[in-house]
Amino acid sequence: MIGANYRSPNIDAEKCRACKRCVARQACRLKALIQFEQNEMPYIDQTMCRGCMVCREECPFKAIVVESL
Ligand code: SF4
Ligand code: SF4
Repeated sequence: MIGANYRSPNIDAEKCRACKRCVARQACRLKALIQFEQNEMPYIDQTMCRGCMVCREECPFKAIVVESL
């Protein structure tokens, strides 16, 4: 089962620079981080995300955050 047991990150809209090509998206092997258009703020499909945090490591602007429980 994907979802409930994983902590999923979110994009912080204040920190995200809506890069031309989101490098965090490129790092997500599950394609859970979605950016339809260049220069658009991406979002994370929570039904696909497994909480590996690879994307969080890759974003140069620390825009990927995990809400504390
Ligand atoms: S999440 Fe990070 S890498 Fe992706 S568009 Fe936002 S600032 Fe750029
Ligand atoms: S936490 Fe992992 S699975 Fe979820 S969006 Fe980031 S890289 Fe993809």
